[in-house]
Amino acid sequence: MPNFCFQDSLPNLIYHERNFSLPKSRFAATVVTFAKNYSMTATKGYAAQSASEPLAPYSFERRDLRPHDVQIEILYCGVCHSDLHTARSEWGPSAYPCVPGHEIVGRVTNVGEHVTKFKAGDLAGVGCLVDSCQECRNCKQGLQQYCENGATFTYNSPDKIDGTNTLGGYSNLIVTDESFVLLVSDRLPLEKVAPLLCAGITTYSPLRHWKVGRGHKVGVLGLGGLGHMAVKFAASFGAEVTMLSTSASKEADARRLGAHNFALTKDLEQVAKLAKYFDFIVDTVSAPHDYNMYLNMLNTDGTMICVGVPPTPTEILGFNLIGNRRSIGGSLIGGLPETQEMLDYCAEHGITSDVEVIAMKDINEAYVRMLKGDVRYRFVIDMATL
Ligand code: NAP
Ligand code: ZN
Repeated sequence: MPNFCFQDSLPNLIYHERNFSLPKSRFAATVVTFAKNYSMTATKGYAAQSASEPLAPYSFERRDLRPHDVQIEILYCGVCHSDLHTARSEWGPSAYPCVPGHEIVGRVTNVGEHVTKFKAGDLAGVGCLVDSCQECRNCKQGLQQYCENGATFTYNSPDKIDGTNTLGGYSNLIVTDESFVLLVSDRLPLEKVAPLLCAGITTYSPLRHWKVGRGHKVGVLGLGGLGHMAVKFAASFGAEVTMLSTSASKEADARRLGAHNFALTKDLEQVAKLAKYFDFIVDTVSAPHDYNMYLNMLNTDGTMICVGVPPTPTEILGFNLIGNRRSIGGSLIGGLPETQEMLDYCAEHGITSDVEVIAMKDINEAYVRMLKGDVRYRFVIDMATL
């Protein structure tokens, strides 16, 4: 999730300017050295070449294995709304070509000489992170997403070692340090596991952090990729779950996914009935919306947990916070240990994502549908179609 906040786009810009301003002779030397030391692997993918162009086939090369690297043949990759935000530079300028995709599952095809956790043939997953300093306070606590020296995200992020722009999972192959590769169970269908690597951990992590469970009333705002996983986890943790949606047509699905109640947020009567009702609201909405309306649904000491990242800032009226000592917080994906814990929890409890498997060529149509809120509830690309 490169460029997840506007500050994060700055290093990308600096990186690009730096590279484009390299003296020609030095640039040539760099390329020669690179070619001599690394036999790169030809890789197929789909990329956006600019913010306004559709994604299209793109060939590139993955690095040869470093000693701790794992090479994975990608079998499935989920389609996150962050992919769309980034491909279209909605969070600030992205680096192009941009190959999105951070919900990756596949099979290990090769490992570096010092790899201990994986061998060829194993199932493996890669989420939103591919590197971090591993030394700062946050990394040491397993919170690599908050690395004080800047985590490297799976796409649109400068690689810490070679400086190249990371390219994500809309591709047939990925090479990643084993510390950032997850063990994937063979007990669950792989295409339904892929979205757990982002949508799953992004909702699991804050629910665990705020200790949401039995006795709590939780509202989940937005029934898309993140929202449907939030419903499943909150219900699985024992909370009473209410789906807050703009789409009346999703009510039956919301209940099937585990929601106990459903409220249509366009219906002001239904909204009024929910005043001061919830202990928590998990806001997964990707587009600008009125946070104040939902803050008013929180009871005393209630918390609004924001995981959705609309491209524009929002206004919050102070009275909606002080009135009932309410809090508003946010959460970014999850660290590596918690992501593994979440995958293991899902394997044990049979929790997966509800997916619509698509061919790679249909990605642009999938983006159009995602923007309309018409995704039930995660598109997943079958990489065999690439
Ligand atoms: P998604 O599948 O497109 O779901 C978003 C849902 O929000 C829609 O299905 C729709 O649900 C609702 N919605 C859309 N426009 C709305 C509007 N104008 N007003 C109210 N509701 C609206 O997206 P996603 O992949 O779940 O991602 C959601 C957001 O989370 C994105 O901004 C993404 O970048 C962000 N994200 C954050 C993290 C993190 O670490 N915090 C990780 C991944 C993604 P209804 O039809 O039910 O209303
Ligand atoms: Zn994501």
